[in-house]
Amino acid sequence: MSGPVLVAVDDDRECLSALERELGDRYSRDYRIVCTPSADDALAKLESLAEEGEEVALVLAGQWLPETTGSELLGQVRRLHPHAKRGLLITWGGWGDPATGEAIFDSMAHGRIDYYVLRPSGSPDEIFHQTISSFLLEWARDRRVAPHTIRVVGEVWSGRAYELREVLGRCAIPHSFCLADSDEGRGLLAGTDSGSKLPLVILPNGKVLADPTNSELAHAAGASVDPEHSDFDLVIVGSGPAGLSAAVYGASEGFSTLVIDEGGIGGQATSSSLIRNYLGFPGGISGGRLAEQAYEQAWVLGAKFAFMQQALELRREDDRICVSLSGHSGVHARAVILATGASYRRLGVPELEAMNGAGVFYGGPASEAPAMAGHEVYVLGGANSAGQAALHLARFARRVTLVVRAESLAVGMSHYLAREVQATPNVEVRLGTEITGGGGEDGWLDHLVLRERASAQEETVPAVGLFLMIGARPHTDWLPAEVSRDQRGFILTGADLPAPAWPLERSPFALETSMPGVLAAGDARHGSVKRVASAVGEGSMAIQFLHGLFAADPLPAAQR
Ligand SMILES: Cc1cc2nc3c(=O)[nH]c(=O)nc-3n(C[C@H](O)[C@H](O)[C@H](O)COP(=O)(O)OP(=O)(O)OC[C@H]3O[C@@H](n4cnc5c(N)ncnc54)[C@H](O)[C@@H]3O)c2cc1C
Repeated sequence: MSGPVLVAVDDDRECLSALERELGDRYSRDYRIVCTPSADDALAKLESLAEEGEEVALVLAGQWLPETTGSELLGQVRRLHPHAKRGLLITWGGWGDPATGEAIFDSMAHGRIDYYVLRPSGSPDEIFHQTISSFLLEWARDRRVAPHTIRVVGEVWSGRAYELREVLGRCAIPHSFCLADSDEGRGLLAGTDSGSKLPLVILPNGKVLADPTNSELAHAAGASVDPEHSDFDLVIVGSGPAGLSAAVYGASEGFSTLVIDEGGIGGQATSSSLIRNYLGFPGGISGGRLAEQAYEQAWVLGAKFAFMQQALELRREDDRICVSLSGHSGVHARAVILATGASYRRLGVPELEAMNGAGVFYGGPASEAPAMAGHEVYVLGGANSAGQAALHLARFARRVTLVVRAESLAVGMSHYLAREVQATPNVEVRLGTEITGGGGEDGWLDHLVLRERASAQEETVPAVGLFLMIGARPHTDWLPAEVSRDQRGFILTGADLPAPAWPLERSPFALETSMPGVLAAGDARHGSVKRVASAVGEGSMAIQFLHGLFAADPLPAAQR
């Protein structure tokens, strides 16, 4: 039979027959199952499947194979079948064995496996099948073959078809694209009106939209674009992790809550294919999936959403705060939470952008640093945050190279920090240098291309980690002067507010801005930790302060 292939390798005969039985019984209708005791045989089969253009959805391998280790074998799978999910098979309690524990930690940290899998025990083993079906769902989503995927058909990859894909991406809605003159495109167009203007969007319920506007598309996909009414207890601007968390807690505490966003859900988090440091997801979770689940959670708790609406203005009107919107006259609230986040400056080297999370990281190295033990690591940036990241990484890495465009560290870094960087034996500084390329064989970064700006001379260097600390710009330009910000535009709150900026006798609440009743949470806030978990934490904290705020400045509740 044809169909995507599931491969399992284990030299333990009993385990191999349990794998054959469990995989065969549940999945043989839709997948081809290949089980073998030999790593060499598995590799040969994986190579020939790759040559024949066959799709492999999942590879499972025991760790202690006679010819090699499972993690070594799975590390090679990425090169042959980049979309295949990879699970390291271990016996129950195997994590307590130091060598197996180290193999799991090391393989996860270097992206050789997606997660570990307990070998199946007696049938039916629902724990085993839960892991396998999660892998297969992730694989189907990556391959855009999961159910309920929206199809976009266009004449070219760019232009309006690209914009529509961007809208769907920003709403965290699974979608796929094909060209109108491809086999798939012709098949899809055959079932639609021949005169329809491209690009076409075909929804899972069969509805077809011809060249829709962004709002029409979001609306048709079930994302609300208009606030249902105009008076709320709480308006949250931004539906990234901070805004979604505030929405979950705000709605669950009984506040009538509206979330507005100029795009869709998830904010920057949707650009992360695998968030590994968010509590409760040991195998990591894609930013899009996390956003989707948080949105559903806020929605079932009663929060309202209005997407494709940019907040343009914020002002007080009597006892309400008014937020003007790009596609609506505006909404009023007793309190507003600003969760508008920030944009990170991007490196703009496509081959390195594609390795985001696979050796290339935007932001500080707090959670990835231990995985850099003994390796060559690079930090790009010349400001204090880059210096601090280099010093932190130097505690783990064999050598850290700080790459700085400027000709002197003094241009962007405090004197004390520059001295510490220069005095640390395993930190090297390369001034007047930029990063112009790089990549990795097995789906993980293994080299970078550096260019000396003065001579334009290029050099390829080995590298296992690259941390990009090249600056962020908060989305706060639209706010009135009444909302105090620091020099870089991040919103000042609570104890950080300069005394003259605060207009009331009572003290500001911890996340309150200089405009009473307006709070800020997440990346847009001065001093926040730029991480998903911190944004989520601040979003929930902001709701706790609302209780105090409403008690301190009693105002009538919103008209429901
Ligand atoms: C490539 C990448 C990878 C990352 N990986 C990780 C990771 O692995 N782990 C981790 O912890 N963190 C990671 N981060 C950082 C993390 O994504 C952010 O810290 C987090 O998303 C901040 O959440 P936020 O809600 O404060 O802001 P954002 O996520 O930036 O959301 C802000 C939202 O506000 C909306 N908005 C802005 N202005 C307006 C306006 N005027 N009107 C209406 N809406 C507006 C935007 O459209 C956006 O949806 C990553 C960041 C990037 C860029």
